[in-house]
Amino acid sequence: MIISGNDIEQGAHLHAQLVVIGAGPAGIVSALEASRKGIEVIVVETGNRRRRRVYQRLSKARRPQPDLHAPVEFTVSRGIGGTTSIWGGRCVPYDAVDFVQRDLTREARWPVSYRDAVAFLDRACEWMQCGRPVFDVRDIEHLPRRLVPGLEDGDVRTSTLERWSLPTNFGKEYFSDLRDTPGLRVITDTTCVRINLNDDQSRAAGVECRTLSGGSFTIGGDDIIVATGGLESTRLLMCSPGPAGKSIGDHSGHLGHWYMAHLEGVVADLVLTTPADQTIYYYEHDVDGSYVRRRFTFGHDYLIQHELPNISGWIANPELADASHRNAWLSLTYLVLHSPLGSLVAPPAQRLPLTGRRVPGTPYGMASRSSVWAHIRNLAREPVATIWFGLGFGLKRLFSSGRRPPGFFVLNRNNRYPFQYHAEHLPQYDSCVRLSDNVDELGMPRLEIDIRWTDKDIDGVIAAHRHWDNYLRANGVGRLEYLADDLRAAVRERTGGGFHQVGTTRMSKDPDDGVVDENLAVHGIPNLHVVASSVFPTSGQANSTLMVVVFAIRLIEHLYGATSGLNSMPRSASNSCPGRTFADSTSPSSESDRNGN
Ligand SMILES: Cc1cc2nc3c(=O)[nH]c(=O)nc-3n(C[C@H](O)[C@H](O)[C@H](O)COP(=O)(O)OP(=O)(O)OC[C@H]3O[C@@H](n4cnc5c(N)ncnc54)[C@H](O)[C@@H]3O)c2cc1C
Repeated sequence: MIISGNDIEQGAHLHAQLVVIGAGPAGIVSALEASRKGIEVIVVETGNRRRRRVYQRLSKARRPQPDLHAPVEFTVSRGIGGTTSIWGGRCVPYDAVDFVQRDLTREARWPVSYRDAVAFLDRACEWMQCGRPVFDVRDIEHLPRRLVPGLEDGDVRTSTLERWSLPTNFGKEYFSDLRDTPGLRVITDTTCVRINLNDDQSRAAGVECRTLSGGSFTIGGDDIIVATGGLESTRLLMCSPGPAGKSIGDHSGHLGHWYMAHLEGVVADLVLTTPADQTIYYYEHDVDGSYVRRRFTFGHDYLIQHELPNISGWIANPELADASHRNAWLSLTYLVLHSPLGSLVAPPAQRLPLTGRRVPGTPYGMASRSSVWAHIRNLAREPVATIWFGLGFGLKRLFSSGRRPPGFFVLNRNNRYPFQYHAEHLPQYDSCVRLSDNVDELGMPRLEIDIRWTDKDIDGVIAAHRHWDNYLRANGVGRLEYLADDLRAAVRERTGGGFHQVGTTRMSKDPDDGVVDENLAVHGIPNLHVVASSVFPTSGQANSTLMVVVFAIRLIEHLYGATSGLNSMPRSASNSCPGRTFADSTSPSSESDRNGN
């Protein structure tokens, strides 16, 4: 059942076995998994079916250094489905190396093993609708083994894959399940402004809810899950009074600290000396049609041995906005995004950087913007092919109800491509968020964001490029050519974050070392849980959402026990997972075997 908080009587008190705060992928998966096990659930969600500016405004935060963090109202979406109403759909698991103790991440220890986490990866892929949990091209029989002729996997691998979801908007895809599942109530237009503990502060008693129309009511729960996204989960704990006069979760001073995003950008071109028509620069398809893409990564042991951060790289397009690429398809895309139609096609977080505006946390907006005429001249180079491309791609992208192309890549006849990196942001205590003096329309203090990068982060990205370059040269297939003389300045200029929000409620075995325990319960409050990217102690090179869903499933299994697998799968997804599973194929030992490490 879905009801608006505006229709709930002022001062009412509701109760459920499980209260889930937030209806993004973390909240929806938690709620549906639990209710299919017979648990009575209430979900509280700020927004409703449509993304509305009044709700987005609630997320605004102070950014004293605006160049280092994207506006939060760009990076989250409030409504049923959460930020999946605007996300890209890229699904990447964390790697085994992320879970082990490394010198670089010495101060951030995972209390959960890699094996323990990836046990839930197949179910998470079902929810994400990104196909089977296969993340290595060697497990997909019909795809060629090598990215370019002669480039074998070794210390550097080009067989690792990222996969794409439809991209699934969880609010649309699972709306009828949320509405029709017995025992499940979703209360929309309602923000939880505070969590209350019982008298002896040993358990969470319930949550206080408010609506923008002035309504307020409370909900009690035997268990409470905070699933309001990385930053909002942190903010809600900070706004809730806990033991010893501190906020809930702030028992050891870690709440809000260790804030991590990723480092993303382009500082080199990949120049290949192999035949240009044999480079796999494009998306490929798995057996069920899901889009996959190859990435450059390092072997597990190699990363540790050379003290490199976890990092991936891939072949990219030139910046759309700079017409010197002379490509008609790129210019057509630029012109559409730049026109009034652009806001209908893509949210600001995607559209603005692609049209040449620098938005921290995105790799674009670094090149100079060309005049519209320069782009029109590019179109005139291949008018017919471009119209066909525009119709084909545009129709599939905008109107297909199933799998949509995540984007497109263009062939470079000189076999030279921008090389994009996505790197781990290393944990450091001083990188943090805190409550500011400003309050939002519901009276909740807004966040102030003080995200930081250190020389170690920058050095790691540069070192990884040097290792990639050496490997290409040693294999006789090409090299990296740097785009700037001062690489440090180039990498630093591109640092910025906001799209993946990691670390600020991190998990730990020892209460002195973090906010939640290995089962995501706030230390000392066993019935209050957090499921968001903020619980991850390290950021890895992976986008966060697939692992957030992994941990949501794991939490519900922990709380309510195993059921027959079928029951807890998303209804709309197929249950068959042909081929080897991720856990089978890339467990740390087999991964090391394959790399010869
Ligand atoms: C442009 C863009 C592209 C992205 N692309 C990718 C990608 O390709 N791959 C990837 O892995 N990730 C991507 N992400 C990140 C991804 O969207 C998030 O990791 C994911 O949505 C997080 O899920 P969540 O459920 O934890 O939080 P959210 O999706 O943010 O959902 C949280 C929900 O909680 C609600 N809420 C917040 N506070 C309260 C409150 N106090 N009371 C009640 N409700 C509340 C919000 O309204 C929201 O609906 C992208 C993000 C953006 C902005």
